[in-house]
Amino acid sequence: MTDLNYLDGNAAAGMLSELFAVDVTTARGRCAHCGDIAVVARARMYPNDHGMVLRCSSCEDVLAKVVETPGRLCLDLRGMAWLEFAIEE
Ligand SMILES: [Zn+2]
Repeated sequence: MTDLNYLDGNAAAGMLSELFAVDVTTARGRCAHCGDIAVVARARMYPNDHGMVLRCSSCEDVLAKVVETPGRLCLDLRGMAWLEFAIEE
């Protein structure tokens, strides 16, 4: 896929901040498809009328989907093997 109609993963910060109390763009995740480990900010964010799709910057497979409906956000993380957040100790 050579689609250039995506935004940098940092563009996902606004919508994801409604779901998480921490900045998710600095979290590291592992692509369930190719195994690439990267911060969310490195993903490719494809906004659409219903929310957004985050794709792996390495293999372009779907990492996550966010669907927004009135009063609700639904997060699908099936494309990530794991997501790791730094926490304050
Ligand atoms: Zn991948």
